[in-house]
Amino acid sequence: MHQEDKYIDEARQGEALMTLPTTNATKKLFLESYGCQMNFSDSEIVASILNEEGYQTTTQVDEADLILLNTCSIREKAEQTVRKRLGTLNAIKKRNPSLKIGVLGCMAERLKHKFLEEEHLVDLVVGPDAYRDLPNLLNDVEDGRDAINVQLSKEETYAEISPVRLGGNGVTAFVTITRGCDNMCTFCVVPFTRGRERSRDPHSILDEVKELVESGYKEVTLLGQNVDSYLWYGGGPKKDFKNATEIQKATAVDFAQLLDMVATQFPKLRIRFSTSNPQDMQENVLMVMAKHSNICKYIHLPVQSGSTSVLERMNRQHTREEYFDLIDRIRRIVPDCALSHDMIAGFCGETEEEHQDTLSLMEYVKYDFGYMFAYSDRPGTPAHKKMPDDVPTETKKRRLQEIIALQQKHSEIRMNSYVGKTHEVLIEGNSKKDENFWYGRNTQNAVIVFPKTAGTNVGDFVNVKVHSCTTATLIGEMVEA
Ligand code: SF4
Repeated sequence: MHQEDKYIDEARQGEALMTLPTTNATKKLFLESYGCQMNFSDSEIVASILNEEGYQTTTQVDEADLILLNTCSIREKAEQTVRKRLGTLNAIKKRNPSLKIGVLGCMAERLKHKFLEEEHLVDLVVGPDAYRDLPNLLNDVEDGRDAINVQLSKEETYAEISPVRLGGNGVTAFVTITRGCDNMCTFCVVPFTRGRERSRDPHSILDEVKELVESGYKEVTLLGQNVDSYLWYGGGPKKDFKNATEIQKATAVDFAQLLDMVATQFPKLRIRFSTSNPQDMQENVLMVMAKHSNICKYIHLPVQSGSTSVLERMNRQHTREEYFDLIDRIRRIVPDCALSHDMIAGFCGETEEEHQDTLSLMEYVKYDFGYMFAYSDRPGTPAHKKMPDDVPTETKKRRLQEIIALQQKHSEIRMNSYVGKTHEVLIEGNSKKDENFWYGRNTQNAVIVFPKTAGTNVGDFVNVKVHSCTTATLIGEMVEA
């Protein structure tokens, strides 16, 4: 997943996640997730592992026996949020000394033992590849030992663990297909916190999707730091594929094949995927998208900068021109495809001219929406070690504002292009603003709200004619097919 990858709706950041009680559950787990979709998906694996140990999740922090924060290290602000949260948990721990508090995820991996030294109330520190060890680590805590496992794995994909679906709407779910990333973009902590890229057995992916379909789910998002790089050849890191046997090479499954398998096997299921890395996205994925109407016409395609020289400093393995070429191919093969981006303002050494290249790239693509941030230097990354973070804060802020303003203009253009048309919408729940309205998304991932009508329910696919819009929401009414 990319640095600025699709963040869960801000409202869900730090959300306590709950599942139904199991019969043998005797202890209460309060699980809070921060950051990207991978973290939210990992929390479902953690809940499953601890469910086997007799933990039932709760949304009431005061009644918890165990509090786990699944953390994010992408930006300094994300880490500050977690530290602040740990501060407030301190008060609860004072009232309840038997309470255990653990830190999971990227921040645990980045800070390792430092966490136990700096945050005295933290009892356990567990990296993203060590969740199977949680039961042992909890025993260590009980026995008064330091409980830490931040070992990164070359194989772990949690393939056969059936995630406990937490806090969702019961109709859309994430299914993890890859873990880690080998790309080494110079600004990114992911290769250090989530390790080498490895892919999950396609059979276990299909089994998980089948289970979801049988439970009434209508949409899955295939998830990974870099889904287009998916390659199953029997397990192990992607980088070792070159040493695979001839049989393994001949029977290997790539992302286009996996996507085709899921879409063919589950024709009534909506399928999304995230995140795509421009250098790894192949034309065969676009052909599969064009072939199946149940694969959503939307690609999150982070570029980070519109300048070839900045892309080079970021160690992105493509140029501005190659990105344009990819955009042209997408427009040709999947004409109605929506696109979103991640953009960094003020990366190391960024000149005014390079910033203008970003704006002109955005003008060319006219993204539907984007995730935009001022550059935040992350300790341990190649950029931190080798490049001065030399763009003044004021300049970063101004450039970010220009990027945001341009994106708003483009979002408006895109949203207006949907007005007057009829869209197939999956009903996902009540509109946040008015419970007399349903909330859902079209294939392009645009949010649509419309008045409820008798006989419609969450999980239904309905046709909605859009009559107006804001920059973020389409408004319409249900019509007959
Ligand atoms: S290293 Fe690059 S491709 Fe990999 S997760 Fe980070 S930003 Fe994405």
